[in-house]
Amino acid sequence: MKEEGARGTHVLVFPFPAQGHINPMLQFCKRLASKGLKVTLATTLFITKIAHNEVSNIRVEGISDGFDEGGMKEAESPYAYLERFQIVAPQSLAELIEKQESSGYPFRCLIYDSMMPWALEIAKRFGLVTASFFTQSCANDAIYYNVKKGLLSIPVEGPTVSLPGLPILGIHDLPAFIYNWESYPPFLELVLNQFQNVEKADCLLINTFDKLEDEVLKWMSKLYPIKTIGPTMPLIYLDNRVEDDKDYGLSLFQPSKETYMDWLNMREAGSVIYVSFGSFAELGDEQMEELALGLKSSNHYFLWVVRKSEENKIPKSLVEAKSEKGLVVAWCSQLEVLAHNAVGCFMTHCGWNSTIEAVSLGVPMIAMPQLADQTTNAKFVEDVWEVGVRVKLDEKGIARREEIEQCVKEVMEGDRREQIKKNAFRWKVLAKEAVDEGGIQIRTLKNL
Ligand code: UDP
Repeated sequence: MKEEGARGTHVLVFPFPAQGHINPMLQFCKRLASKGLKVTLATTLFITKIAHNEVSNIRVEGISDGFDEGGMKEAESPYAYLERFQIVAPQSLAELIEKQESSGYPFRCLIYDSMMPWALEIAKRFGLVTASFFTQSCANDAIYYNVKKGLLSIPVEGPTVSLPGLPILGIHDLPAFIYNWESYPPFLELVLNQFQNVEKADCLLINTFDKLEDEVLKWMSKLYPIKTIGPTMPLIYLDNRVEDDKDYGLSLFQPSKETYMDWLNMREAGSVIYVSFGSFAELGDEQMEELALGLKSSNHYFLWVVRKSEENKIPKSLVEAKSEKGLVVAWCSQLEVLAHNAVGCFMTHCGWNSTIEAVSLGVPMIAMPQLADQTTNAKFVEDVWEVGVRVKLDEKGIARREEIEQCVKEVMEGDRREQIKKNAFRWKVLAKEAVDEGGIQIRTLKNL
């Protein structure tokens, strides 16, 4: 598909139905649309019903995943959801493509989430160009590749692992799906199956940028036709020329009504810790308590996102602290918060979007990974990009209040603060350059 020929071409984009997958793929849709392509994003009917904000220039089509009323929560368990999803969603996707065939604008290309390799087979049946979109870091993808191909066996024998293109990894630097493989069998299958048939895809898109994951990208590019298209954040945060691209759109959570931006506006530059664990992770009661006490005793201001489904876990100690130094909200516009100059650091679960957002906005991090790929991202935050510290866990797997307080001190006031800030600034500049140089859409379209 040449760039000139691509103008007006109709592209179908199909993310896995979770916030961390929708955000980067929707953002990529906007960039394709800005280059004159016609873009449709397909997502579940449930998500189209509950999404809180609209997206212009992109047509959003709801298709059934078998849980039209309640989404994943309607299923007995995430596993039951996945099982039915993998039967119903392929049929719905095929129906959507077929229906579009008879319109004036049939789809020419399917960009599908790498977690749904079956989408490739459907696209091939209709003769579409295919691109598999990896929403996680290349480092994680490379580890999953090694496991899938039998180059790294589970259970992994430690204490360290050496894989091409990656730093030496301790067992707990591997994705939690790997070192804790017995705990999440269907999810492990999902991430490993990304490599089931990907060699048949016309290209692989990864939400990262070359300098961020230089060595592992070079290694993986020898195996597959990879294009780095990150960071895929709304461009106002990277390039002020695109003023109306402020928000991801399609938020599955209601942004809090609390006036957190007014609250931030009253704080001095670099004085606030922003705390969030993304859209999925659930902290236990004991961890919530330790975190609240650690934040309180650090004596810094903090803005903490506790999703509505988690609010019953807010410890009493935090309610007391609230009036003094802390503000708890159910959801916020994370990019707006990270870009605010009152924010001095981000205590994060290291979901890939949160990580790359903080890297791109130059915000130092306190990494507190919970599951999935987050442990590997935390390793990179602390040891590869050196833009933060990672909390240490005790034998029960809990980050204690003293450890949390210590990490906050290190990033907010310690001797390492200046160096971490300098590193974070350097990565911010490199992320912006990746967008400026990349013209990701142009590279991508020329080669599709
Ligand atoms: N996010 C947000 N508001 C919040 C918390 C998170 O807008 O209060 C966004 C965040 O900017 C990111 C996404 O939700 O784009 C979370 O994705 P990530 O990969 O970090 O974590 P996941 O939710 O997949 O665990």
